Amino acid sequence: MFLKSVEIMGFKSFADRTRIEFSEGISALLGPNGCGKSNVVDSVKWVLGEQSTKNMRAEKMEDVIFNGTETRKALNVAEVTLTIANEEGILDLDVPEVSIKRRLFRNGESEYLVNNTPVKLKELRELFFDTGIGKSAYSIMEQGKIDQVLSNKPEERRYLFEEAAGITKFKVRGGEADRK
Ligand code: ATP
Ligand code: MG
Repeated sequence: MFLKSVEIMGFKSFADRTRIEFSEGISALLGPNGCGKSNVVDSVKWVLGEQSTKNMRAEKMEDVIFNGTETRKALNVAEVTLTIANEEGILDLDVPEVSIKRRLFRNGESEYLVNNTPVKLKELRELFFDTGIGKSAYSIMEQGKIDQVLSNKPEERRYLFEEAAGITKFKVRGGEADRK
């Protein structure tokens, strides 16, 4: 399983449809300050269901929509699509390629689609439990997360072992059962 491509349209500085293709192995994003490297990483977190504006480096979620420049009008919708290779079937869908799309309109309307079928955020999260992918998993390791892994506090490191051991889904379901 690996990330094949990210397609970004109307998200942050990407006013035009922009498609970045990855191959297996290591890819690096290079460019001058402010060119949008971190915005690409933000877009991946966002499409995976990130709800925290702070993690999006924004004051309100609407700020992720392209807000115009001196020469270009603001847009009304942001859309990000990930394509994930799923040949081994790690994602529990019987297809070799899975596409995940998130859209947000300026009026606050938003939607998630998995292989072009609308899904709830909860369903999207469930798809990624114990795969290492997701906003609280380890597929995206930022400075703060590396500190958590290196932390002396076992409870801060624990999320990583639980995800790798494949028990996140049971913990989440257990929590839901407790509340019922
Ligand atoms: P650095 O090397 O300094 O980390 P970077 O390549 O990571 O830079 P980003 O943080 O990805 O740069 O991009 C910052 C740019 O994105 C800024 O110019 C900012 O104005 C622009 N930007 C952020 N949100 C929006 C938005 N909603 N609409 C238009 N532009 C935006
Ligand atoms: Mg950056």
